[in-house]
Amino acid sequence: MVSSSNHIGWPSALEGAHLIERLARLVRMGEQGAGLNPAQWEALRYLARANRFSRTPAALADYVASTRGTISRTLASLEAKGYVRREANARDGRSVEFVLTKNALQALKRDPLLVLAKDIEQANGGSLAAVLEGLRKTLRAALARNQSRAFGVCASCRHFRRNLRPGSAMPHQCALLDEPLSEADSRRICVEQEPHAA
Ligand code: SF4
Repeated sequence: MVSSSNHIGWPSALEGAHLIERLARLVRMGEQGAGLNPAQWEALRYLARANRFSRTPAALADYVASTRGTISRTLASLEAKGYVRREANARDGRSVEFVLTKNALQALKRDPLLVLAKDIEQANGGSLAAVLEGLRKTLRAALARNQSRAFGVCASCRHFRRNLRPGSAMPHQCALLDEPLSEADSRRICVEQEPHAA
């Protein structure tokens, strides 16, 4: 727990934390009015961004820091509503992965998080890169403290090998999983991602 005396040295940082909390609360309010609960929105967003090695209930549970049981119920409710379907995992036939349906892709076009993204773009304009870098560093510190997986973008992983097969539909390679990767894969997040050493 942070003592009140620690606040004195970094009032601007504390204001930043309050702002992030408030923004997150406003997004939650938007989600409640959009027909899905916050856990269901989180699952849809995750599945839309995750690569084919990461669309499992276990990876989703890690990403949102939830229990497997809670995630199973969230995915079951999304399946019942026609937003996801389960398929055999390509790498491990004993486990399942979840993929988005057309209904989910339509729903994501009205994702309340897009409203926040638009507000961030309009408020920060040309200084967005600096804002994002600050938020990434903040997230890295929080993840390290909680010993959580990074779930970073594939192209920033130390196992990513760029353009080993120029001109191919799968030009890149994952050196960890020994799997080919497309350009779209390089922009997805991955449960196995390990950032380059700083
Ligand atoms: S290169 Fe890294 S992020 Fe990409 S698929 Fe392999 S382990 Fe995952």
